[in-house]
Amino acid sequence: MGAQLIDGNAIAKAIHEELTQEVTALKEKGVVPGLATVLVGDDPASQTYVRMKQRRCKDMGIHSVGHNLPGDATQEEVETLVRALNADPTINGILVQLPLPFHLDEEAILSAISLGKDVDGFHPINIGRLAMKGREALFAPCTPAGIIELIDRIGVSIEGKEAVVLGRSNIVGLPVSMLLLKRNATVTICHSRTQDLPVVTRRADILIAAVGRTEMVKADWVKPGAVVIDVGINRVDDPRAKRGYRLVGDVAFEEVKDVAGWLTPVPGGVGPMTIAMLLKNTVTSAKREAGLLS
Ligand code: NAP
Repeated sequence: MGAQLIDGNAIAKAIHEELTQEVTALKEKGVVPGLATVLVGDDPASQTYVRMKQRRCKDMGIHSVGHNLPGDATQEEVETLVRALNADPTINGILVQLPLPFHLDEEAILSAISLGKDVDGFHPINIGRLAMKGREALFAPCTPAGIIELIDRIGVSIEGKEAVVLGRSNIVGLPVSMLLLKRNATVTICHSRTQDLPVVTRRADILIAAVGRTEMVKADWVKPGAVVIDVGINRVDDPRAKRGYRLVGDVAFEEVKDVAGWLTPVPGGVGPMTIAMLLKNTVTSAKREAGLLS
């Protein structure tokens, strides 16, 4: 194996430890960060994600409140809850778990979250600020921010590098491209209509794969020595696995590891960073609210 593994579990653990210390210091000043989660319906994966977020908050001493609404909750009910949380001084961050049931207007609900409590970073104004030169979002979306944090923590400089992002979704591809651009990378965004993908990806010093296609990125798509960040989470049937499936990324790990300089595994790469960055945003929000942000 040529590539060095980027251990997302270890990096996320380090961030959790740093945040725990910060939360302890904030509490001594009378500031208790608070996160509210809003879950609509009973999707098992969403329930698991919300539970993990709440458990981490508890471990870290962050106040957390979970609101579970039935799957047939109305737009008005969800927005009324969000407005109540906006007005609650014990809450610094509001996380509406996505995806929402189809009958709900996701953009209207995300827009109802107070900008200062948008710790998921999906409020259209936060995304707009992310896109504009000279403006800063109050919070960057968590998975994209986690990707940048991984690159920073392995000590690779982003400035001036060729970065290629596979995928242009609102939650990963587009915001991570904007973050890379803010860090002065030269960014190319690819999507399902891009022609000759391997020719484009081979230019990348930093390659981010966020397409949701099992092992699409092959060894000959990768420039030798590149940093390859695999965001994909795909289920592959595996009768030997306890659950009958295993998780694999968008990158063909076994072959790409011989070409890349750095590579994230799936699982254990980007995944653990998402919650770490959510909690970091929540602590940042509490500090901002208390006037303690330097
Ligand atoms: P998404 O909304 O489905 O977007 C996929 C993107 O990939 C789209 O922009 C699409 O292009 C592009 N694409 C699809 N097939 C392609 C192909 N054959 N060639 C080139 N581009 C292609 O997915 P997402 O929400 O961004 O998630 C992407 C992956 O990341 C998924 O596996 C998801 O589970 C995972 N994920 C992981 C985390 C984490 O914490 N680790 C967080 C979020 C997502 P078009 O725009 O043209 O359709």
